[in-house]
Amino acid sequence: MRNLFLEKLKEKVILFDGAMGTMLMKAGQDPLKTPIRLNLDEPDLVTDIHKLYYTAGADAVITNTFGGSPLKLAADGLEEQLVELNREAVRLTRRSCPDGKFVAGDIGPSGKMLKPLGDVAPEEMQENFFAQAGVLIEAGVDLIIIETMYALDEALAAVQGVRKAGDVLLLASMTYSKTKNGFFTVMGENIPRCVSVLEEAGADMMGANCTLNSTDIIDLTEELRAATDKPILIQPNAGKPVTSKGLTYYEQTPAEFAIDAVKIKKAGADMIGGCCGTTPEFIKAVAEALR
Ligand SMILES: [Zn+2]
Repeated sequence: MRNLFLEKLKEKVILFDGAMGTMLMKAGQDPLKTPIRLNLDEPDLVTDIHKLYYTAGADAVITNTFGGSPLKLAADGLEEQLVELNREAVRLTRRSCPDGKFVAGDIGPSGKMLKPLGDVAPEEMQENFFAQAGVLIEAGVDLIIIETMYALDEALAAVQGVRKAGDVLLLASMTYSKTKNGFFTVMGENIPRCVSVLEEAGADMMGANCTLNSTDIIDLTEELRAATDKPILIQPNAGKPVTSKGLTYYEQTPAEFAIDAVKIKKAGADMIGGCCGTTPEFIKAVAEALR
C-alpha cells in the first residue's frame, strides 16, 4: 500500500515535535498530575500545544498518550478510561494537523518490569501494548512510535503487541545512556542488539530518544546508522534539567540544539525531534537550520 509518510521520508528529513510535559509545566500544570488526563480535562490546552509544534515546522506530532497503556493507566486508577483517553488524544492531534502532515500515536513504557526482575509475564506485557495500539490504530494514527524504552524485553513486547493489533507503520525508539564503553540501555543492551531484536519482531523504523543531549547523541546517531538500513529518528533532550528557585529549565538553547541537529542529520538521521526540555522554539530553530 502507498504510504504517504514513507514517501515524505524520501523527500526530506521529517521533523517531529518537542516535549509535551515541558509545555504543560510552562502552562502551569502540576507535573505530578498524569498528563494523559488532560486529553479529557483540558482538551484546548493539549490542542494548542500540538498546533504550536505544527506551526513551528513539525511534520509529525506525537499524541499525548505516552502513559496510555493499561498497566500504566492502572497505576493512576485510570484503566477504565483506556479507550476514551487514547481515542480523544488522537482526535486532538488530528484536529490540529494540517493537510500533508502526520499524527504519530505515542506508546511509552508500562512502568513495570518483566520477570524475573519484575512480576509481569511476557504475554501480559504484550497484551498491555496490544490493547493501547488497537485504540490508536482504530482512531486513525498515521504511524505508531514506541519510545523511551530502556529495557529491550519490554520494547520487544511492545513491538509484538502493536504488530498483533494491526498493519501500521511502526517506529521503535530506545533510550540509551553514554558510558565510557559506548552507548547502552540502563539494562546493559547495546545498539546492534536492540536493532536486531526489534527489526526481527517487525519494527519498520528505529529510533533513540531521551537522556542524551543533542551533542552526545551525534555519535549515537552514527552507531545507530551503522546498525540498520531502516529510517531512524533521533530525539535528544535539551540537556539536563536544572532547578532554581522552584523553576525547572534545561541547559541547552534552541540555537545550540539546532547546530547539533544539522550534525545529527549528517550522521545519518532521517527524522529529528526533541525530547525532554524542548519546546516549539527548539523545533523552529531546527527547521530553519535544516532548510
Ligand atoms: Zn525525554
